[in-house]
Amino acid sequence: MYKRFFFLLLLLSPIFILAQKKTATSAAYTPTQPTLPKPLKQAKNVILLIGDGMGLTQISGALYSNGNKLNLERFPVAGLQKSYAANDLITDSAASATSFACGVKTNNGAIGMDRDSMPVPSILEEAEAKGLATGMVVTSTITHATPAAFIAHVKSRKSEEEIAEAFLKTEIDFFVGGGEKFFNQRTIDQRNLSDELTKKGYLVADFSKGNLTDLNPDPKQNFAYFSAAENPLPVSSGRTYLAPASKMAADFLKVHSDKGFFLMIEGSQIDWGGHGNNSDYIVSETIDFDKAIGLILDFAKADGETLVVVTADHETGGYALNPGSEFGKMTAGFTTAGHSAQLIPVFAYGPGSELFYGTYENTDIYWRMRKALGFENK
Ligand SMILES: [Zn+2]
Repeated sequence: MYKRFFFLLLLLSPIFILAQKKTATSAAYTPTQPTLPKPLKQAKNVILLIGDGMGLTQISGALYSNGNKLNLERFPVAGLQKSYAANDLITDSAASATSFACGVKTNNGAIGMDRDSMPVPSILEEAEAKGLATGMVVTSTITHATPAAFIAHVKSRKSEEEIAEAFLKTEIDFFVGGGEKFFNQRTIDQRNLSDELTKKGYLVADFSKGNLTDLNPDPKQNFAYFSAAENPLPVSSGRTYLAPASKMAADFLKVHSDKGFFLMIEGSQIDWGGHGNNSDYIVSETIDFDKAIGLILDFAKADGETLVVVTADHETGGYALNPGSEFGKMTAGFTTAGHSAQLIPVFAYGPGSELFYGTYENTDIYWRMRKALGFENK
């Protein structure tokens, strides 16, 4: 009898060990608020640029396809961050954007919430509450996972109509992106959130009424521009707004509040090139993103009070530049149609940029940006 019991225990023991290991792993890597030195000079403004799916190889492919030159080379400070999610070594955009936005590791799919589904305030919301101006510019829907993590608190990134409602709950001052249908052709209710934004005092414009670059928004009035009903086009199909919209956002926000601003800009479609294992798509989107980076660096250089941080949420595609690659012609390989677990580069310029040297968690991007802005510890 006892023998049988022990035999059963012996059979089951690997399951117990595995279960224990799993708990230990997820509990072991819960980064907390780091102790950081005071920045040499406090930043008044922070501009965070996220290249979705932009690992080191994506940057390399763009660099060698662009005459061996990228604006990213102008950054004096570089670091590395660990992109993993709370429940998976391979993160998605929702979990990693929540890490940048809110300073917590969370489960894949979650937006602005911790792993226990508790909402966590984002740096954009904290900046807004302190009287700073805030904005976002993206080349996906404005309700897509990355921008969503800065403004919404929902369990699933798929709830884009619910995420759209968050734009009415926050006083975000400037935003540009696709996904107008989640505002004005809703399926979960009869609300027209574009009209509600107008009633709230926003100047709301969209692609059907003309190009963004033909508009000259008054910095005293909040501004929203929908670049598409659904997802905006790839740059190779004629999308041109990312760089000019980024510059417009920085100029607008600088005047909008004298307390400073927080701006998030995303090159959203580098990731889609990775998912499609399409090297040309990756390269064209990364070069387009780099143009926005160039204009933002020019702005920060002239302004002198702006910290610029560039990073990615994760790498997509397991993208490799294989033998046979030449300047201007990549011979690409891919290991997956999904994301990979690579360490992700971070570039920084301006006051507080010295905080971004080293290797750290993706959540530390949040804590370092806060420190640079002089926000108090939590
Ligand atoms: Zn992706």
